[in-house]
Amino acid sequence: MGASITSWADEMRRNGYSEQVMPAIFVGHGSPMNAIEENDFTRSLQATGKTLPKPKAILCISAHWLTNGTFVNASPKPKMIYDMYGFPEELYQVSYPANGAPELAKQTKDIVETVDVKLDYDWGFDHGCWSVLRHLFPNADIPVYEMSIDYNQPMQYHYDLARYLKKLRKNGVLIVGSGNITHNLRLVNMADINAKPVDWALEFDSNIKILLNESNHQGLIDFHKIGSSARYAVPEPSHYIPLIYIAALQSRQDNLSYFYEDFHYGSLSMRCVKIG
Ligand code: ZN
Repeated sequence: MGASITSWADEMRRNGYSEQVMPAIFVGHGSPMNAIEENDFTRSLQATGKTLPKPKAILCISAHWLTNGTFVNASPKPKMIYDMYGFPEELYQVSYPANGAPELAKQTKDIVETVDVKLDYDWGFDHGCWSVLRHLFPNADIPVYEMSIDYNQPMQYHYDLARYLKKLRKNGVLIVGSGNITHNLRLVNMADINAKPVDWALEFDSNIKILLNESNHQGLIDFHKIGSSARYAVPEPSHYIPLIYIAALQSRQDNLSYFYEDFHYGSLSMRCVKIG
């Protein structure tokens, strides 16, 4: 295990980091093109980044790192991963040159008691991570590491695992979940980013907002009980799961707020949530 909480606090003070418990955020990332576009959503990320306390490191849980088992990347200099196809060349030139956080990755593995989290040295920054961090923290001067999503596990597994990660918030780590509350790529209207949102997307997103407002975490875990809109909104869970991680990090005293609430392409909820 690493240093005690007290010496962490001393070290953070010396380095000008915030001493407060870090918030945790969920970002609806939408199209990879948001990485290089200027729109209301990307401007809201840029503005939000300026309001966040300076973290010691960022742990990103991205919808785009799906594995069998749970891994944390412990590379000192994670590589760029361009895991999207058929986009303009400019998108494949984006670089997010943040360092990794190998020591924190090892500590993250150690604080999770119920799951054998494994260290990984092959992954890097996928587009769920870099497309949002380049707006939130454009200087790329804060170490970043990713934790994978075990795609074979139920929602309760992710919720229970994420509860252990609360300790990281006290240690100056900003946890960022990157996904989308509604994500059905067969039903997006790619012709119009500002298309009027369809009913099932509005219904599911507003139900999730109510559950978040009520801190009804069991309701979030059992999202399928919302009904038919859930089947359209979450045809597979990759983009919903990061929200469960962020909900699980909420303590009783934490505020919950939304720093972006809108839809892209008629059915992608871009809702962004801040806890703490
Ligand atoms: Zn995505």
